[in-house]
Amino acid sequence: MPVCAALIVAAGRGQRFGGNLPKQYAPLKGERLLRRTLRAFLRHPGIDRVVVAIHPDDAAIFAETIEGMKDVTAVHGGATRQESVQLGLEALAVSNPDLVLIHDGARPRVSLALITRVLDGLKTAEGVLPVVPVIDTLKRIDGTGRVGETVPRDNLVRAQTPQGFRFPQILAAHRAFKGEALTDDAAVLERAGQSVMTVAGDEANIKVTTMEDLATLTATLVETRVGQGYDVHSFGPGDSIMLCGIKVAHTHGMVGHSDADVALHAGTDALLGAFGAGDIGQHFPPSDMKWKGASSDRFLRHAYDLLLERGGSLVHLDFTIICERPKIGPHRGAMVESVARILGVEESRISVKATTTEGLGFTGRQEGLAAQAVATIRL
Ligand code: MG
Repeated sequence: MPVCAALIVAAGRGQRFGGNLPKQYAPLKGERLLRRTLRAFLRHPGIDRVVVAIHPDDAAIFAETIEGMKDVTAVHGGATRQESVQLGLEALAVSNPDLVLIHDGARPRVSLALITRVLDGLKTAEGVLPVVPVIDTLKRIDGTGRVGETVPRDNLVRAQTPQGFRFPQILAAHRAFKGEALTDDAAVLERAGQSVMTVAGDEANIKVTTMEDLATLTATLVETRVGQGYDVHSFGPGDSIMLCGIKVAHTHGMVGHSDADVALHAGTDALLGAFGAGDIGQHFPPSDMKWKGASSDRFLRHAYDLLLERGGSLVHLDFTIICERPKIGPHRGAMVESVARILGVEESRISVKATTTEGLGFTGRQEGLAAQAVATIRL
């Protein structure tokens, strides 16, 4: 196996970005961009070591960024990207790896698959460049914003990183063409008269240059999660039960500390489970007299409010009520409407269905009632 190093370029000041921090240190969902980038390379089995070219002023924030990470070292970059890469390569020359992947620190969405494609390309090519197609029509404009001409799009692609190289060749090319203001490393190798092959890039692998890019990236990091809940209560004396927040006439009532609405309890647990927020018993201890006889819509609403506080949203909440009696069908519409009202969401996001257990088990013997719920959320 060839020894492969990754050189991450993170020495820029990010003047186009605004704010106080260079863009590569901006937080993305609580983790700095650069740390996410480094994680991708450290996780890839084909990468043996990672060197980061940083700005000398960033030593402290860099140390904080890589806290707890192994096999990452820093080297001071230069005034231009090209200079920073050369300094990084010179630092790597001491250990003289076979291959090097050079990557922008502000491209945190680099995937393991993309790194693999670049490494695979290096089995035959001297240089490997990931590219994505140009979709929009291209125009050349003059200084006043007037369109001069339409540029043919044929054979045009957009260059991404990581770009892969044979280490001795890219080091020699960088030494030879120092100070030429070439904007990427493939261009440095081209300048040395060597060929660069392309592999498929990845549209998700965007380079964060502006605050808008950061917002776009944040939006792509939305996760879909699923939580499930289950609850049981036994029948007791009474003439009605609460289910999905509505009162349903029955030959029995339900036994419970609160209003014993099994569906809403299962729904509350499903929601809490989807974002790892514990369970209903933790939030509303049965030992607390405050919740005696409480209306269970408060429990469900509380779980939903916690989700909203975390920036999440409900995609769908699906209930299954398990009982022989009462018949759920006639109440299904009202139940959906009730849950949608409690949460303030469209009825299309709520589903209520029912099943019997064919006379088997405690529900079959009509000793009690069970409910399951599955919550799908975006976080
Ligand atoms: Mg319960």
